[in-house]
Amino acid sequence: MVSTCINGGYYQEYAFEILKEVIDNYPIDGIFFNMMGYTGPTYAGVDHGICQCENCRKRFKTYSGLDLPKNYDDPAISEYRKFQRETSSELYLKVTDFIREQNPELVIYNYNDVGTSWIASESGADMRPGIDDIYHATGNVKRTLGSYKDRNPVNLIMGFQAIGYRSIMSSPNLLRSWMLQDMLHGAPVGFVVVGTYYHYECREFIPILHDLYGFHRKYEKLFTNVQSRSRIALINGRGSAEAQGMVQLLSEEHIPFDIIHQAQLGTGRPPRDLEEYDLLILNHVTDMSDPFVEMIDGYVENGGKILATGAPSINDENGRALNRIRLRSRHTDKTSLFLSDIFVFIMATPIRIATTTAAKINSILII
Ligand SMILES: [Zn+2]
Repeated sequence: MVSTCINGGYYQEYAFEILKEVIDNYPIDGIFFNMMGYTGPTYAGVDHGICQCENCRKRFKTYSGLDLPKNYDDPAISEYRKFQRETSSELYLKVTDFIREQNPELVIYNYNDVGTSWIASESGADMRPGIDDIYHATGNVKRTLGSYKDRNPVNLIMGFQAIGYRSIMSSPNLLRSWMLQDMLHGAPVGFVVVGTYYHYECREFIPILHDLYGFHRKYEKLFTNVQSRSRIALINGRGSAEAQGMVQLLSEEHIPFDIIHQAQLGTGRPPRDLEEYDLLILNHVTDMSDPFVEMIDGYVENGGKILATGAPSINDENGRALNRIRLRSRHTDKTSLFLSDIFVFIMATPIRIATTTAAKINSILII
């Protein structure tokens, strides 16, 4: 298999000719980029490592003064990660600016928030042990809706069972539940079929899909331009399992909530101000800059409440351990509750703990 490096001529120059040819010659509505940026492990799980091409070598040297790391334990790896993020964003912005110059009406669609109009995400089953996250679509849609006032979420429902089983349709109940979550939270509906229907031996979901699209078409108006009135916001850090538990807990208790990317807080990009929320739930948000800590403390001083799981604010924004909780509001125990003080196992069994602590958390949530 051949992978092209984003620092090479194919991406930096020739890709623009291809885009221009397509835009000039075909009546397309939009352009989707799948997995833009540096290549990671293949679908077969093979990791070819860090690109060592001449372009990467030169560019990283100019950027950092360092030699390219050869492996992930190299001391230069954090600088290299930064380099990857910046060069990917730079190229993607160049590409999206170019597309808009050719035709400003085209929708640009990708998994990141740079230069795009729609932010893609996916809900799909897998073959790992354990149950699937039945609220997965809720998390995906709310994360974009709560974090960006100028981006649309498009959460794709992946029909296939897993990457290695792409001609086997997932459980119709699971797919239906995810698609309804997309709809009810205000995202468009999107369903992915890899290959053709012909290749799917199990087509049980197809008539259900027909009904769901029909339902959406009939009531589309009710699902369009929805605005949140939730009084609770989830801020997700490293604890994705905890975030999953909280989404389940709040959904099953019928408590409305928003989700905000930690990186977008305080940037002006989320559609609502922090002050509009009565409670912030910090899901294992370990990495915080000093201004971020101040922002959360200020929110509490102004009457906001926080509920924190895991170990909030123990690292700086780059993940460097500071070994202490820096939130001052940590000590004003009337306005904050730290689940780590009560349940040391919350990270290991988030869903079960979250459910069993519902009674306790409720007393905070409904303040
Ligand atoms: Zn390279």
